[in-house]
Amino acid sequence: MGPTEAAAPELAAVSEPEFAGPAQRETLDPQDWEGFRTLAHRTLDRMIDLQRDIRDEPVWRQVPDDVERRFQEAAPVDGAPIEEVLRDVAQLVVPYPTGNLHPRFWGWVGGTGSPTGMLGDLIAAGTNSVAGNFNDAAARVEEQVTRWMADAIGMPTGTTGLITSGGSVANLVGLAAARDAVAGFDVPGRGVRAAPGQLALYASTEVHSSVTKAAQLLGIGRDGLRLIPTDAQYRIDTNLLSRTMREDRADGFVPIGIVGNAGTVNTGAIDDLDRLADIARDESVWLHVDGAFGAVAALSDNLRPLLRGLERADSVALDFHKWMYVPYEAGAVLVRDADALKRPFASDAAYLAPPPRGVGAQPDPANGRGPQLSRGFKALKVWMLIKEQGLAKYGRLVEQNVRDVRHLAALIDSHPDLDRVAPAPLNVVCFRYAPRGAAPDAPLDEWNQEILMRLQERGIAVPSSTVLRGHFVLRVANVNHRTRAEDFDLLVRETLRIGRELSG
Ligand SMILES: *Cc1c(COP(=O)(O)O)cnc(C)c1O
Repeated sequence: MGPTEAAAPELAAVSEPEFAGPAQRETLDPQDWEGFRTLAHRTLDRMIDLQRDIRDEPVWRQVPDDVERRFQEAAPVDGAPIEEVLRDVAQLVVPYPTGNLHPRFWGWVGGTGSPTGMLGDLIAAGTNSVAGNFNDAAARVEEQVTRWMADAIGMPTGTTGLITSGGSVANLVGLAAARDAVAGFDVPGRGVRAAPGQLALYASTEVHSSVTKAAQLLGIGRDGLRLIPTDAQYRIDTNLLSRTMREDRADGFVPIGIVGNAGTVNTGAIDDLDRLADIARDESVWLHVDGAFGAVAALSDNLRPLLRGLERADSVALDFHKWMYVPYEAGAVLVRDADALKRPFASDAAYLAPPPRGVGAQPDPANGRGPQLSRGFKALKVWMLIKEQGLAKYGRLVEQNVRDVRHLAALIDSHPDLDRVAPAPLNVVCFRYAPRGAAPDAPLDEWNQEILMRLQERGIAVPSSTVLRGHFVLRVANVNHRTRAEDFDLLVRETLRIGRELSG
């Protein structure tokens, strides 16, 4: 009996469900392209005006209750004309941004973006390229941007990498490569439980929370992330690091890597990266540098010496959306050993195997260098900005931010009612209001928290805060190409004014 003879009656017995599809053909393309064009141009104009006029706006506004209620509405079953949707955007969304476009936003490490970057995202969305996996321009743009950054940092030819959503994923990817390169067994195949002991990663107590998350996700765990105390400058104590690694090995830990900080989030401290590279070499472990914002200082000839040793790292994480003024999101991880980067992300899916020619002919697809398959074309805005501005101008912008922060630090230092609580080696300064003659039990932490909230609520400025040596402090991180020195004069004036409202 041939296969066709028996199959026919059974197939006929399976009844198709009633399904005719929609009565009319549907599409999401506009019916009136010219009308859409007019609306789209007007929308672009609004976004250009927003960026041009941002200095005249408050830095931030609270979302009011009537607007808040609109966000509770259920999803519409039937749509509305785009004019109506854009009206909602104008009333509900555009007036209530995070605030980081503004010249006086210095909270967290909030990047300002830039008009050219906005155009890059428009074009990326317009072409809708799925970046990195195909035989197209997007893959080439990504590769070129990665190479430019590796060169700028001084990493060797052959360094590869991946454009990521930001520093967090860049840290995760770099540390996955570290783990699988150093652990000494087939981690992707056998899993971390096959390790002869607890895998261990070393970093200072100032390391960013995204590294803790990476340790959690990679099966290293918070127990395996060994946090080493810092010196008075908030840099890792390298002697203590070496000693801890030796002791840990004796205790059965399996050290796999060191995470160096090029610009800690709290104070902008830069670890002695050259020394860390020596220790990593001597201990046969990986050196990953979290340079989310600080690595960009390498673009300045005057600041690069602060980062000595960065070029010796096995992997470096950096952000474009912070100190390179690219709109969210974009970051990168750069990895010296191309094979090491591929190890954690290998897959043999037949549907992804690149053919010799055609759309799929991409011999080194990005999905083999990171956790994502489909990715947006985030490299385009970076590529456009670097082409337009050039790396030398980037170096000058970074220096300008550092110079302005030194100006702010000097203002703080010269005022008896303000305390600068940490060194400011880069673009971050931490300080607090501590009026002369205040009672020993004056609630300084409360006052400073209140100063922070009032500065923000009044739309004056957005610093953020942290806790250093047990004290609540105000924190300014300047990655803002719109800030002028006088914006910091205003910050100091208003901080003192609010401080006096509180302390009487
Ligand atoms: C911001 C930051 C990160 C995380 O980067 P994202 O882009 O926010 O994911 C990591 N490390 C440092 C030092 C940072 O400042």
